[in-house]
Amino acid sequence: MSKQFETEAIRQQMERSQYLEHSVPLYLTSSFVFEDAEDMRASFAEEKQRNLYSRFSNPNTTEFVNKIVSMEGAEDGYAFATGMSAIYSTFAALLNAGDHMVSCNSVFGSTHTLFTKYFPKWNIETSYFKVHEVDKIEHLIQSNTKILYIETPTNPAVDVLDIQLLGTIAKKHNLLFIVDNCFATPYLQQPIKFGADLVIHSATKLIDGQGRVLGGVTVGKAELIREIYLFSRNTGPAMSPFNAWVLSKSLETLAVRVDRHCENALQVAEFLEAHEKVNFVKYPFLKSYPHYIIAKKQMKLGGNIVAFEVRGGIEAGRNFLNALKICSLSANLGDTRTIVTHPASTTHSKLSEEERLETGILDGLVRVSVGLEHINDIIEDLKQALS
Ligand SMILES: *Cc1c(COP(=O)(O)O)cnc(C)c1O
Repeated sequence: MSKQFETEAIRQQMERSQYLEHSVPLYLTSSFVFEDAEDMRASFAEEKQRNLYSRFSNPNTTEFVNKIVSMEGAEDGYAFATGMSAIYSTFAALLNAGDHMVSCNSVFGSTHTLFTKYFPKWNIETSYFKVHEVDKIEHLIQSNTKILYIETPTNPAVDVLDIQLLGTIAKKHNLLFIVDNCFATPYLQQPIKFGADLVIHSATKLIDGQGRVLGGVTVGKAELIREIYLFSRNTGPAMSPFNAWVLSKSLETLAVRVDRHCENALQVAEFLEAHEKVNFVKYPFLKSYPHYIIAKKQMKLGGNIVAFEVRGGIEAGRNFLNALKICSLSANLGDTRTIVTHPASTTHSKLSEEERLETGILDGLVRVSVGLEHINDIIEDLKQALS
């Protein structure tokens, strides 16, 4: 990116129309017109780059994608209706029956279900490594292994994986290296710099940042995005122009919002760490965090997710959630509103108890998505609920 991140996020926008609007307009149109029969033929033959139909592209989705592409240092991208449709379509476009993947076992709940329940229907199998056993990855690689997949920081246990190290392993074995960068956002972390071939986001989270719309995006190497684009253009998981318009506006404020999210989250983490009713706290930029050095190497700030365990197990955890007065109990994260969840009984309830323990999802684990309310009010609410 030539200009600074914040400047590009605001100033990179589609060309103005004849009305010279200052703020980017919304193009709610399903299709676009052709000048004549020849224009129509050439457009469908892709001899010219233009919008034909909003399942393929639309000015608003293109603008949103282009911003993420430059923020991530990617070559190209495609926007999806949700984060899950981005993940599903990316894998479905790139894998064939009989292929194999290696994934960290600590991934988003629906991603885990996709890999373990649905991909095997097409004879695509996944082998898992644990966050702390990166040294075992090479033993899992087979002759038909195509992809190495991770999230970092992980959801909901907030572990950090060394992107550069994994990128080196992927390269050595000729694997595509795909990173779900949802928790960090392109403002805090750009996995392509550390060797990722593709980066996926759920734009529903911090990219929207206000709990309004769903969205997803995959960016990376142009030849891979081309495959993903052709698959998606024919299967129809495209982002709506309205959501793209909302999300592109959200990107204008991503840096300031995420700065404050991270500042609040660090204070919440420090408060919890000092509290007698808390067993442990995980936050990447806490000095006590086991992967503090890796987090500092690859992230600008620690993100907005804090995980901790309330002393007293599942009952104490539930009492804590029920006593909250300001913080919401909700399934989302990355909202202006602080959100508290109990993963073991909600997002990760489909995992077996053994799988949950292996991924660090203890019964009493609480995940806080720290919002933008005044820090004193957030801490006051947590404090009264803990007591
Ligand atoms: C929420 C989330 C997803 C899925 O995104 P949706 O927009 O809800 O489909 C994928 N990965 C991570 C890490 C997430 O937090």
